[in-house]
Amino acid sequence: MPPPILPPTVAVLERGWLSANSVVGFEPDGSATVVDTGYVQHAAQTVALVGELLRARPLRRIVNTHLHSDHCGGNAALQAAHGGPAACAIEVPAGELDAVNAWDEDALSFRATAQRAAGFRAARGIAAGDAVMIGGLRWQAHAAPGHDPHALMFFEPGSGVLISGDALWQDGFGVIFPELRGEPAFGAQRDTLERIAALRPRCVIPGHGEPFGDVDAALQRARQRLDAFVADPLRHARHGVRVLLKFHLLQHADAVPRDALRQWFAAAPLLAEVGRRYWPRQTLEALFDETLDALCRAGAAHDDGRCVANRG
Ligand SMILES: [Zn+2]
Repeated sequence: MPPPILPPTVAVLERGWLSANSVVGFEPDGSATVVDTGYVQHAAQTVALVGELLRARPLRRIVNTHLHSDHCGGNAALQAAHGGPAACAIEVPAGELDAVNAWDEDALSFRATAQRAAGFRAARGIAAGDAVMIGGLRWQAHAAPGHDPHALMFFEPGSGVLISGDALWQDGFGVIFPELRGEPAFGAQRDTLERIAALRPRCVIPGHGEPFGDVDAALQRARQRLDAFVADPLRHARHGVRVLLKFHLLQHADAVPRDALRQWFAAAPLLAEVGRRYWPRQTLEALFDETLDALCRAGAAHDDGRCVANRG
């Protein structure tokens, strides 16, 4: 499979799992657009990397596929570095516009997941069916519920490129968060995968990982993964808890005291809720021990009994 070809006016900044990819579009009027801005901890790095790509170009728009902390954490810093709200407008999925502008951390996911974000205000909401200009090209906004009920993806028919956010990765997709809260969303994720299949993209720029061209194979893996979760929702819940703990560990360059990590785990409302819903006879401490154990066995963490370090 040859490497996927991106339009010459589109660049991708890839940084692993703590910070989602940023897509930079170079506009014909000399300005630029950025789609997704990484985690707040990387905000200064995001500003520097985008600045290097833009040189003297003004950044006029920031667009978010969805408002998870690893996708919008650099919005505030990037906007501030490019002239503030008057010069650089932030556009978010329409379903989140009110929650963003009220900075309602309960409606947004930051409080539930005990993740961090820096507040910002959005100028506009983007709805499914809207056209979004990125890199001088006209992208269609498509609904991408499942991982996040308000998520959007952007498709450009001429190049066949899809910016998928966390709806489709080369190997899987993001945790189906509504399911963790008892709200059915596996069906929505299935519909989103079929919506992608119907678009027949030639290249996907995922929220994490490098752009890929073997879209059919990725869709096949995603369908199989979804089938396995539907057949065994506990497996998905276990996966979701591991992802949240791993994401927290990714924020620490140094080892974290095990007690502090356990306290963080116990204080994250979503983890407590998942524990109550899926393992009502098990304590949260036992869920923490089991989850950390699983991460260690997978080589994703190291626990010496006193401190826990990120691995892999
Ligand atoms: Zn996400």
